[in-house]
Amino acid sequence: MITGARPRLANHWDVIVFGAGPAGSALAHNLAAHHRVLLLERNLAVNPQSLPEGWRIGESLPGAAAVLLRQQGLLDRFLADGHTLRGASVSVWEGGNPVWFDGLRDPNGPGWHLDRVRFDAMLRNAARDEGVVFSAVGGGVRLLRAGAQWQVNDDRGGRQYTASVVVDATGRSAACCRALGLRRRAQDRLVCVHALLAPKVHDQDRCTRICADVDGWWYSVRVPSGQRVLAYHLDAKDPALRGLRNAQALLLQARHLPVLASVLPDRVASGTAQVRPAGSVFLDIADGGPRSGFYAVGDAVLAFDPLSSQGLFHALASAQSAAAAIADELEGDRRAGQRYFAQMRDVQARYREQLAVTYARPAHYGGRPFWAQRRREGDWMTVA
Ligand SMILES: Cc1cc2nc3c(=O)[nH]c(=O)nc-3n(C[C@H](O)[C@H](O)[C@H](O)COP(=O)(O)OP(=O)(O)OC[C@H]3O[C@@H](n4cnc5c(N)ncnc54)[C@H](O)[C@@H]3O)c2cc1C
Repeated sequence: MITGARPRLANHWDVIVFGAGPAGSALAHNLAAHHRVLLLERNLAVNPQSLPEGWRIGESLPGAAAVLLRQQGLLDRFLADGHTLRGASVSVWEGGNPVWFDGLRDPNGPGWHLDRVRFDAMLRNAARDEGVVFSAVGGGVRLLRAGAQWQVNDDRGGRQYTASVVVDATGRSAACCRALGLRRRAQDRLVCVHALLAPKVHDQDRCTRICADVDGWWYSVRVPSGQRVLAYHLDAKDPALRGLRNAQALLLQARHLPVLASVLPDRVASGTAQVRPAGSVFLDIADGGPRSGFYAVGDAVLAFDPLSSQGLFHALASAQSAAAAIADELEGDRRAGQRYFAQMRDVQARYREQLAVTYARPAHYGGRPFWAQRRREGDWMTVA
């Protein structure tokens, strides 16, 4: 069944989703059985069925995600992809001693270390197989509300679409929210500098290793390829950032921390470390939600600090909730969007509370600006 009483114009869609990351692809997949869905993506591979090259940071998936993947009909596909089961977590956070948590004690199971590129491609392919239409889009897309529907003008591509619902799934850039002038708030200017390290002979370590440091914090995990991710989180204004863009320098600095040193190899896989924004950012949701017919999912509604390892779970969960709300709205329920955004506001509030508590724990570094700034729950700045 395809809903919507409007005439079937070639370029009219029930839903247009911007961004084919995990949130956008999962949302489109959830809706496609009953609705016409167009997914507009900035970086579409030439052959979308082929697996893109490379790797992407963001590789820890909590066990609770299995419930969502099952509900969305994606679990079998996911399990066939060869992601590795996570081992224990070991963190040196509140004091000098490592604290172990065995994921087997988690009722949801230990979770996975993902091949992240494969994970994102699986979600895109599942959406495509369900009938979602993909199209490449460049910059300069205009979004206009025309009566009860949206008009999307892709001036560079020479295309124009209309849709009943538009969804921002463009990740941290929140391109549609920004285009509509919606306000977002950020906690800080946290960045993650990360490198991929060459595999170490006989390394079978499956632990997630986390460590607080004087002016930031580290993590390292071994990904399914056998290579190891090393990541350091610090303030974007920290002068040390410049030197750490060299992956070998990053590796050298990590060697001072015993919980990491024991598993680090001698070589990096590539000479340059990458830097990505990693701070928490949330969409400031007014009472009643932004506008009817408009939704934001995944990082566009709440971008998590990587410390939480919740970004992908939230991408799947918000996609599932938004898909249900959109289906209701297309059936005539005018309050569906409000309910969805009220739920997202609760998620944001709980997250912010928990984040401040977590950053307050390394009390021995409490005097350092990096830690002091992040333990203040209320102090969030407006971002453009
Ligand atoms: C350093 C770091 C480590 C992380 N580690 C973890 C982790 O271990 N576990 C975890 O769960 N999460 C982790 N995350 C978070 C996780 O990666 C994100 O939460 C997740 O990618 C969000 O998915 P998304 O679909 O909302 O956004 P994205 O994955 O960012 O996807 C957005 C998509 O939109 C496209 N796009 C952008 N702008 C436009 C536009 N204008 N028009 C069309 N398309 C556009 C992009 O090309 C992209 O395909 C980490 C994040 C960082 C920064």
